[in-house]
Amino acid sequence: MKSLVARGDGQLSLEELDEIRILSSEVLVAPIATGVCGTDLEIIDGKIDPAFVKYPIVLGHEWCGRVIKVGSDVDSVDVGARVVAEGIIPCGICFECLGGFTNRCITYEEIGFTRAGATAQQIAVDAKFVHAIADSVSNESAVLVEPTAVVTQGLLKVQPASGAKVLVIGDGTIALIAARVVHAWHPSEVHMVGLKEGQAALAKKAGVDLFMTTSPTDKYDLIIDASGASSRISEAVRQLVRGGTLLLLGFTGPEVKTPISVDALVNGDLTIAASFGYSRKAWEMTVDFLNSGKLDLTFLVTHRFPLEKYEDAIGALRNETSPRGKIIFEIGK
Ligand SMILES: [Zn+2]
Ligand SMILES: [Zn+2]
Repeated sequence: MKSLVARGDGQLSLEELDEIRILSSEVLVAPIATGVCGTDLEIIDGKIDPAFVKYPIVLGHEWCGRVIKVGSDVDSVDVGARVVAEGIIPCGICFECLGGFTNRCITYEEIGFTRAGATAQQIAVDAKFVHAIADSVSNESAVLVEPTAVVTQGLLKVQPASGAKVLVIGDGTIALIAARVVHAWHPSEVHMVGLKEGQAALAKKAGVDLFMTTSPTDKYDLIIDASGASSRISEAVRQLVRGGTLLLLGFTGPEVKTPISVDALVNGDLTIAASFGYSRKAWEMTVDFLNSGKLDLTFLVTHRFPLEKYEDAIGALRNETSPRGKIIFEIGK
């Protein structure tokens, strides 16, 4: 079977790997669509923290697919079902897992990082991490469950109040998803400060009331950073109302120091929260948003490539053109 393999040297190769033999607890899934993101570039280029990747690795942590085979012990999933699967594989027995914080499981395993991902014709996953996708949900929405679960996890942590005025920093996929998903908490307004004017139309589709590329002058109850832009994060603590919250979802880079005014934090009675990955609860909630029809992210997929055109796909990902939403590989049907 064809698989897209990264070795951390800046190159990708489409390789013919052996057919997968599943365990009795696993299901074999044929990926329908698989997204790529900035983290994939870090994996390709070897720039990711070595603790979070095992080379060589089949890329692909954002995906949906169709079940083509189930292990002998599996009765929760049927052949033919369209599914997504939690990418972070929690051990289920450590104190973090038992507390519900599966995103912080002490043994880190993740599809597309330490386990073969879904830029391939087949992927094996344990049945207990598989979630069925309703027929009404588009493949484009389903492929975005993983990044959306990251956003949901952060929002569950900060619990935005109904009527909150929200600013999203960034205009990439996570920022656009955050602008869309925060509507589930009924904000009064959602603003976005991005880098590229060309993202304005996508932002509007994400439910952004005001899109800007220069520093906002309003004050906000909640600011969500999905940019990792140090200067914007420094600024953000001065753009919060008293009692406001800054939620950090983006990475600035391991060496970057971000100056924050402690006086502004204390005087403003502010909260800074940061969130890593997603728990099982956030994943379930995200799937429920989609299956119940509350959330549709179809608009967000702007680029589609067959697996064979991987150089074009990665080129589009490296090239900061806009408008650009999610780039996906269309693999099977
Ligand atoms: Zn990603
Ligand atoms: Zn654990």
